[in-house]
Amino acid sequence: MLIYNTLTRKKEVLKPIHKNLIGLYTCGPTVYNYAHIGNLRTYVFEDVLQRTLELNGYKVKRVMNITDVGHLTSDADTGEDKIENEAKKEKKSVWEIAKFYTNAFFRDIKELNIEKPRYIAPATKFIPQQIKIIKKLLERGYAYETSKAVYFDVLRFKNYTKLSRQKLSEKITSAREEVIHDPEKKNPQDFALWFKLTDHFKNHAMRWLSPWGAGFPGWHIECSAISTAFLGQPFDIHTGGIDHIAVHHTNEIAQSEGAYGKPLAKYWLHGEFLVIDEKRMGKSKGNFITLENLKKKRFKPIAYRYFVLSAHYRKKLNFSWDGLEGAANTLRKLYNDLNWLASPASKARGAGKKQKGMAAGFLRRFQTAINDDLNTPKALSILWNTLKNPLLAPRTKLSLAFKYDEVLGLGFKAAVKQTKIPRAVIKLAEKRELYRINKQFVQADALRKRMIGLGYEVQDTPLGPWLKPIP
Ligand code: AMP
Ligand code: ZN
Repeated sequence: MLIYNTLTRKKEVLKPIHKNLIGLYTCGPTVYNYAHIGNLRTYVFEDVLQRTLELNGYKVKRVMNITDVGHLTSDADTGEDKIENEAKKEKKSVWEIAKFYTNAFFRDIKELNIEKPRYIAPATKFIPQQIKIIKKLLERGYAYETSKAVYFDVLRFKNYTKLSRQKLSEKITSAREEVIHDPEKKNPQDFALWFKLTDHFKNHAMRWLSPWGAGFPGWHIECSAISTAFLGQPFDIHTGGIDHIAVHHTNEIAQSEGAYGKPLAKYWLHGEFLVIDEKRMGKSKGNFITLENLKKKRFKPIAYRYFVLSAHYRKKLNFSWDGLEGAANTLRKLYNDLNWLASPASKARGAGKKQKGMAAGFLRRFQTAINDDLNTPKALSILWNTLKNPLLAPRTKLSLAFKYDEVLGLGFKAAVKQTKIPRAVIKLAEKRELYRINKQFVQADALRKRMIGLGYEVQDTPLGPWLKPIP
């Protein structure tokens, strides 16, 4: 399996650290608002990654953090905790906000057929582990304390920008950075590991005791603490959206490698942005679309998954309602074709010879495509070629489609099951077919009407009658 490693800027052959087990860490949501469909694009990419690893026979130990504290809005001196802000706005407690949006996130991923990571770790449940790393960093001289915070000293860490390959002087300070006005801070790029309750943090609701007084952790430290707690160090794969390269992941590497003197993760994978009119979709930008918005316009969430899979994860994807409509129509056609393949009339078509060999060939092609750095557009084209191939028997096509769907996650089995035809209707169809073959059209038509009465339409295709529920 080939994956593109941001660390080396190369496609590399995946070589797991432990034989068959892959440690996978995927940065999770900041739960102060609904996820937008840009965030969800990244979670779909990570889900395809996990499913592809499983198709290749690996067991995947996947961990995801939930950021429920410490992620600041960061307008220079007035950076505030996003969750505390939202709590004030909604007149709720910070804990209620975090719980509400965490649940909303779980609902969203379920509707997109994203497997819930086995280990979900809210940052607030891992405070002692975060304190432990900060202590280590102080001991080893990578961190220093001021009267307002504990900072990571980026100049002490060799190769601080090895992931982003930026010059330190160019390092973009993005909305991710925690900036408070602190004259004791050594370098502007130093980032906070722990905030004390000073200045505008005086009334910060989430607070814990620490060796540096009461306060709360910076945003980046949770991922170092949680990944190491579950996966040890180094582990195999770490992922996120590309915005994480320059700041969050760069800081995670500095913290974990500074504290333990060994690499954090072997492979770093990053998903490109979902954009609208060339602008990144962002929570704080005006172009915020949620899954709920799509549903209000009568789109099924799974159609959005198809839309996402139609582009490679390392390419920008432009969202448009027309584009989504196109994906929804294509998926409808796909479900229709699968239902035809699953219909008794179609299944009865005998499997031709060499089906096994041909099926293995198709599966190999599919696997090669998806193993090539998760090439989902190619994988989808192989799916369509499979369905169109005249030499494959219907049941071969169906079982191949189901196999591909273990990676694609487009809900093929559910789509086919939903339209399961009752036995009585099938019997009527068979009887009608006999009348039709014998040219007894009046009797055949009477049965057709009875079936309509039962809610089923029959369509005569070159391969036999096809029953479809009337919508
Ligand atoms: P957040 O909840 O803001 O921490 O973001 C959750 C995930 O979504 C992170 O992995 C981000 O890198 C990713 N992300 C943020 N904006 C976008 C976007 N427009 N398109 C794709 N992924 C994004
Ligand atoms: Zn993270």
